[in-house]
Amino acid sequence: MLNTVIVSAFSPTDDGVRVAADAIKRGELAVIPTETVYGLAANALDSSAVDKIFVAKGRPQDNPLIVHIADRDDLCNIAREIPPVATALADRFWPGPLTIILKKSSVVPQNVTAGLDTVAVRMPENEIARAVIRAAGCPVAAPSANVSGRPSITCAKHCKEELGGRVNVILESFDCKFGVESTVISLVGPRPCILRPGAVSPAELEAILGSVDISPAVLRSLEKNEVAASPGMKYKHYSPNAEITIVDASRENFISFINADPNRFALCFDEDIPDIPPEKAVSFGSQNDPLSMAHNLFEALRTLDQRGARTVFARKPSLDGIGLAVYNRLLRAAAFREISL
Ligand code: AMP
Ligand code: MG
Repeated sequence: MLNTVIVSAFSPTDDGVRVAADAIKRGELAVIPTETVYGLAANALDSSAVDKIFVAKGRPQDNPLIVHIADRDDLCNIAREIPPVATALADRFWPGPLTIILKKSSVVPQNVTAGLDTVAVRMPENEIARAVIRAAGCPVAAPSANVSGRPSITCAKHCKEELGGRVNVILESFDCKFGVESTVISLVGPRPCILRPGAVSPAELEAILGSVDISPAVLRSLEKNEVAASPGMKYKHYSPNAEITIVDASRENFISFINADPNRFALCFDEDIPDIPPEKAVSFGSQNDPLSMAHNLFEALRTLDQRGARTVFARKPSLDGIGLAVYNRLLRAAAFREISL
């Protein structure tokens, strides 16, 4: 058990930033806020610090980490080739929730990229995250700050519950703006390919790139012996203790289905709440507002566990904009179970 120091920062000049950065400089672990989800950060150029991330999360060694930078100039240290499309994407979306996969440079340790010849890089929009990285003086490897397999974390309270004793510092801050992890796009194949949907939508990427592929594994499970384009695709993800099933149905059909059996819990929209007994319903956002769903999904999954829910049925979100990212996470939380009513 580590003695976890809890500090806070609500502006980039607050003291907590320095405490988290000093820990990273010493080769220790610090949980930091970002605009996507909270991240578990270590010096990306120090392989023994990076090893500690895998241990603290219980993360499989073959699942590579995203390297976070505070300044555009740092990209050329991390990647050995920066094609014009990468520059165009960085110009448009950085700082922001877009991770770009490029060929790695030799300074990036093998454990960061899980032995791959490519590296995932992002410049976060959250100015407290950037202040920590800048003060640490190194790029920072930072996967989501949750125990592997569990839902990602979007508020400081859940970071303390889940990672207290496993990390050196937790930097408390505001809840995460988006609430789902970054969009991941690979630029190392023949065509740009989205490996994971996030707040930057396929349409926004197409506006810059002309056309972009979406990996089939975004919306289905990997087939037997299929090689994952992104190693993270093959693992169980975002799993609460409850068994989740997505339901594609009208509001009326969904509500009658939930109310037909007292053991059925609902992961529903705000608009459904009045028609379901309150102890069985947890909302993850408003029906026509996918951003609110992104913002609330992971917390709603944890709330269901706290309520002791065993069998949960979730409303299917619209797939527009960030809705694709919400559905991608929900599918994995549900182990791809979906029914239509
Ligand atoms: P997390 O840090 O937990 O948000 O997960 C990072 C995601 O990025 C995982 O799904 C990884 O598999 C993926 N990723 C990181 N580096 C690479 C890479 N070099 N190639 C493909 N996917 C990557
Ligand atoms: Mg994760």
